[in-house]
Amino acid sequence: MSTDKKDKRLRSSILVESENTTIVIDTTPDFRYQMLRAGVKKLDAVLFTHPHKDHIAGLDDVRAFNYVEKKPMELYANSLTEEAIKREFAYAFSDKKYPGLPNLNLNTIDESPFIIGDIPVIPILVWHLKMPVLGFRFGNFTYITDANKIETEEKEKLKAAISWC
Ligand SMILES: [Zn+2]
Repeated sequence: MSTDKKDKRLRSSILVESENTTIVIDTTPDFRYQMLRAGVKKLDAVLFTHPHKDHIAGLDDVRAFNYVEKKPMELYANSLTEEAIKREFAYAFSDKKYPGLPNLNLNTIDESPFIIGDIPVIPILVWHLKMPVLGFRFGNFTYITDANKIETEEKEKLKAAISWC
């Protein structure tokens, strides 16, 4: 095993920040460590790419942000990912609420653009074999993970310079 710090590659996740909004894409099993390492004090929302374990497993740790911000964490996921989240973290969605549970608010998204705080988000539908995966475009930056196919129409969303008005 290498002792080079740079070899400690954590699972894929990115942080997108504007003046007043902070978003993270996917909550990997390394989520807690990634947030601590990046010194993230405030988090407004989590966007999910797809329901594989290594992309949702760290979700429980949004509790730390719930605790500080006294509000639910806004989650944005397609319906497939939403189902997986409800299944994996069923205890967070049960009627019996008890202290210490993650406080989650699910927002269902598809390929339509939406806005979180002051950050416009354009989802891009890509495919990993037969699984739909969402990529996300922010301004002229696009994040896509776990994909091996993108349809022509969706590819157009990557090209065009987009005006927001
Ligand atoms: Zn995957």
